[in-house]
Amino acid sequence: MAAGSLDGTAPGRGAALPNVYEDLARYPMNITRRKTRRIYVGHVPIGDGAPIAVQSMTNTDTKDVVSTARQIRRLERSGCEIVRLGVPDLDAAQALGRIRERARIPLIADIHFDHKLALEAIRQGVAGLRLNPGNIGSAQKVRDVCRAAAEHGIPIRIGVNSGSIEKRLLRKYGGPTVEAMVESALSHVAILEKEGFYDIKISLKATDVTKTIDAYRMLAAQVDYPLHVGITEAGTLLPGAVKSAVGIGILLAEGIGDTIRVSLSARPEHEVQAAFSILRALGIRKRGVEVIACPTCARTSIDVIGLAQKVERRLSHIAAPLQVAVMGCVVNGPGEAREADVGIAGGKGMGIIFKKGASIGTYREEELLPALLHEVELLTSAAPSRTGGAGREEPHSSL
Ligand code: SF4
Repeated sequence: MAAGSLDGTAPGRGAALPNVYEDLARYPMNITRRKTRRIYVGHVPIGDGAPIAVQSMTNTDTKDVVSTARQIRRLERSGCEIVRLGVPDLDAAQALGRIRERARIPLIADIHFDHKLALEAIRQGVAGLRLNPGNIGSAQKVRDVCRAAAEHGIPIRIGVNSGSIEKRLLRKYGGPTVEAMVESALSHVAILEKEGFYDIKISLKATDVTKTIDAYRMLAAQVDYPLHVGITEAGTLLPGAVKSAVGIGILLAEGIGDTIRVSLSARPEHEVQAAFSILRALGIRKRGVEVIACPTCARTSIDVIGLAQKVERRLSHIAAPLQVAVMGCVVNGPGEAREADVGIAGGKGMGIIFKKGASIGTYREEELLPALLHEVELLTSAAPSRTGGAGREEPHSSL
């Protein structure tokens, strides 16, 4: 596929995504993306070769406009490109417009059962709905939602969750099987298609990783709608990120998946960080600073763990792809530190800093952090990066 098809630009649909991803021609794993239709969530293209978009979800009370807008701002800074908000009642739906005014990234309203909430969310200017049409009642209600969504150019995500499969399918398949999940998704799709609505993406989430993978594989062979991929209720930060990395990673490596959400029982910014780590590990998109740090051992001569954590925290505002190494000794340290954009190779109470492969000096341990931050600062402010500037976070100004 030509790299040009990945620039995310669509005439009349706003600017491209920030250019912080590697295009397909550079995918080290030679991944062939599944061909899909293209939809837009606001100005963010999804499917048909568009960059795999990273999503998260707020966990504030949507009625609390200030807290929700603040959380969205933090998500934007971490690189989140689309954010979903739960809309449990009319008050929450009516708050969406004020939140939207404060947000730079598109909002998706998560609606269950009540089509009036969907209509209000559309009135308030959301960029997408997450709604299962089979759960909102009569054909007329579905028709009203489809008409309003179509008038505003708003896509609908059908989100099948293994925990809420229809009873008839549970009886037919003897439980929430892969087949039941896929049939559930297809039945919701059929309802929208009957109304002439095709601006659809689909998710099929289970807590079981292998079941999720099988479900997406089966669905991917039957439809050409873009797919939102994730492992639902994956758990707390570490185990949840690992489960998500396995499930989402396997699917992406097979070319399945057009937008991803890592679901964690943790701060939403961690979901975005984990999502970009998955994309980076596969060589699909690169964003922000990747800290390469040694695991430490008996040879470690400086506080590698503390230093690596501080480096990660202090450089989290940088959007440009950058590798920073923090290594503990002179055995493996210099090699890795040289390979990185900026790196530290520790010695006894001191360390050597390398930049772009060359040693730039030896520093006492307490000087290492400020010296390294200074070098990264020089690097990101001096050289125009692929983000089109200093590589510092200008969150989604181009979105
Ligand atoms: S880089 Fe040195 S200190 Fe770090 S784990 Fe390897 S041998 Fe140990």
